[in-house]
Amino acid sequence: MTGSCDNLFPEIKNIPKCKKCGYRTDFRFNNEEFKLKRKTMDYSSTYDGITIVSLKFKEFCNQKKYNNLEFIELKKAPNFFQVYVKGNVIEYNARMKENLCLECNQFESIIGPTINYDKISKPLDKGFYQSDLWFASGNEKSPKIIISPKTKMELEKEGFKNLCLNKIEKSL
Ligand SMILES: [Zn+2]
Repeated sequence: MTGSCDNLFPEIKNIPKCKKCGYRTDFRFNNEEFKLKRKTMDYSSTYDGITIVSLKFKEFCNQKKYNNLEFIELKKAPNFFQVYVKGNVIEYNARMKENLCLECNQFESIIGPTINYDKISKPLDKGFYQSDLWFASGNEKSPKIIISPKTKMELEKEGFKNLCLNKIEKSL
């Protein structure tokens, strides 16, 4: 969407970035020139951690009243959207956090996500959630998206293309 871990596309002039570490500070920037290569997927991610969904996925979320999702239309890919979870933050642990920049207050890398089970005592209520930490490195950081067991069942019933769901289970 905006470049690689280390380099932003030079043609994107207006993306906010830190003047000290050089990494972007707006991880939800919408690159209006972005062209989606594979238009057959209902759910996919760019290398820099942007989740992209189809109109079918968006309509499903609206119909099921998942109201804490924000969809931004992709100008050069009609019927596809960037999507973000709003609120519903879940605490995560990281195996490693590297190089905190004191200017923008971001780590260069946050690696090894695991959910903090100490804070979870029952299955999540229906809905979409996000991790408090943003994982990966440089310009590519993004939160983990988590869904509840009920939402997982609803999504699986729809048969969305390329939606890959992993189960997170607390071991007793
Ligand atoms: Zn910085």
